[in-house]
Amino acid sequence: MSFLNTIFYKPYQTQLRVTSANGFHLRPVASFANIAKRFPCRIWASFKNKKADAKNINALLSLSLDTQDCFTLTAQGRKAEEALEALTEQFSFLMQNDPEPYKIQKEKNLYEGSGVEGEIIADGIAVARLHNHSTQEILTENRLGFQDALKESLQELDMLHSLHQTASSGSIYLAQKELLKTLAQTNNTLKDFEDAIADASHSLKGTPIEAKISDYRDLLWRIKKHLGAEEKLILPATPFILVADDLLPGHIEQLTQSQAQGIVLKKTSLRSHTAILLRAAGIPSLIIVRPDDAKYDFISDMVILDAHAGILVYTPSQNDLQKAMERLQKNKSEKKQAQDQRFKKAVTAQGKPIHLFANVSDVKSAKEAKEEGAEGIGLLRSEFLFTQTKPSFEAQVHAYKEIFALFEDITVRTLDIGGDKALPYMQLPYESNPFLGVRGIRLLETHPEILEEQLHAIFIAAQRKPIKIMFPMVARTEEFIQAKAFAYRVAKKYGLDISSIRFGIMIEVPSVLFLLQQFNKVVDFYSVGTNDLNQYLFAIERTHPTLKLDAHSSVLFDALEKIVKEVAKPLSLCGELASNKEAIPKLVALGIETLSVSAKMISTIKEEIRHV
Ligand code: PEP
Ligand code: MG
Repeated sequence: MSFLNTIFYKPYQTQLRVTSANGFHLRPVASFANIAKRFPCRIWASFKNKKADAKNINALLSLSLDTQDCFTLTAQGRKAEEALEALTEQFSFLMQNDPEPYKIQKEKNLYEGSGVEGEIIADGIAVARLHNHSTQEILTENRLGFQDALKESLQELDMLHSLHQTASSGSIYLAQKELLKTLAQTNNTLKDFEDAIADASHSLKGTPIEAKISDYRDLLWRIKKHLGAEEKLILPATPFILVADDLLPGHIEQLTQSQAQGIVLKKTSLRSHTAILLRAAGIPSLIIVRPDDAKYDFISDMVILDAHAGILVYTPSQNDLQKAMERLQKNKSEKKQAQDQRFKKAVTAQGKPIHLFANVSDVKSAKEAKEEGAEGIGLLRSEFLFTQTKPSFEAQVHAYKEIFALFEDITVRTLDIGGDKALPYMQLPYESNPFLGVRGIRLLETHPEILEEQLHAIFIAAQRKPIKIMFPMVARTEEFIQAKAFAYRVAKKYGLDISSIRFGIMIEVPSVLFLLQQFNKVVDFYSVGTNDLNQYLFAIERTHPTLKLDAHSSVLFDALEKIVKEVAKPLSLCGELASNKEAIPKLVALGIETLSVSAKMISTIKEEIRHV
């Protein structure tokens, strides 16, 4: 094909300039390469004597294109002209829609002791001892072959993407998945993969996008984790401030569960994925501007990391320590005040109460929801309860019991597998359109034994508590009736009384909108899943790397209006739209009285409602 391309087709060329201050980095590159892949012709980018296949994320990244760099894009073969036009347009869109990370304004430095200045990743203050970064490889028994580890890593990135869809971290996982897919095409063993990562890191070293090396290393870390050799941070059990050159994005989860009070990084940038994830985690952190100013490396006393003033004070005076402690206390009491408000009801300025429930995925997030002031659980995404291995029946009962003990009002959604969500232990047949295939309640046809075990575990854990069970991806009333009948058969088989349990559906398939009169006769409640409803209304895959869904489209709001008018049973909204501050006044105006959002958003949305 490429030989024919060269003989019969003339090459088309254009010059493109990187205008985003972030350079041409992983997220836009992933999106660009995906568009290029749609065309049959050869397409390549040339920059400073280097050529890169524009359909290959890894190759494109190796050009290390920084802001203001100008490169040549060439297409040759069938549809070359069309490809160039589409890519030019996409490139310009990507450049315009890649905002620079906002810089947190620094407060004045009033410390007496010596310090080094840095850029603020996430603000806050910490007083603790420094701890130097070191890691250790932990071997686990969960050993897989390379191909399975690769598959699990891709599934895990998919899962992380769906869990963080609305946050900036969501697109990081999607881009990492695309990069991993590209690397997997040519690397079939761990050794090949390690060599490819080493090559990529080598070509990025010393370039303006050097911080992207951690994305490559993160992929290797993830694969090795699934191969049974996880590299973990060695961390003290007492409060500490971590000093590191850089961190793997994958290590941030471990830090959030540790005694880390703050983080100082020497070799990363505000644009790195590590920085974006640290900001999302809210751990006070700085990037030291002059990393070779290493006077603080051997300090063993208390230091101050002031990520309001952007300084690490490594020889604080008594006065400094006292001031910092006072500030720390002030921060804490402000947080506490906000925390106290969280438990108060959310009532609009006109006196209308709106109920705030939580979307949770496991025991930890359910406990967090309790802490954050949720009135109950509006959506337990049960598929995320156990993602790595198939949970035993006892483990399921145990998890449900722990969650059910936390709240009076709880809605459990039965497994919603398929589409963007996969479980490594559940083999689903290949489908060319998985979002339109065996997903949600359709699993009743293919995997009734898994649903039977799940329902049995839920019934045992509920012990007559009036919980609600919600079926996902229901499109017709017959599906709901069959699923409910199945649940009753399971209860009968195990001699369990489930008369207190109510059954409802997610409204996420557009057909339901036209069948509400029928559904009103059979369901006990509804919850609108705007993430999927929007995807199916517009036929745009919710995880699509380039096509964008408009979260505020008037079509979606018209659909909601129709739903509110026609439902005759309790209604809530649990899609991401409920976490969108701008949407709140409209949702309230439509008459939606119950919202379900992630634990972290509860206080913010309550506050928003109070101003409607
Ligand atoms: C939805 O589709 O809006 C929803 C809440 O469910 P999920 O995101 O888990 O598919
Ligand atoms: Mg859904």
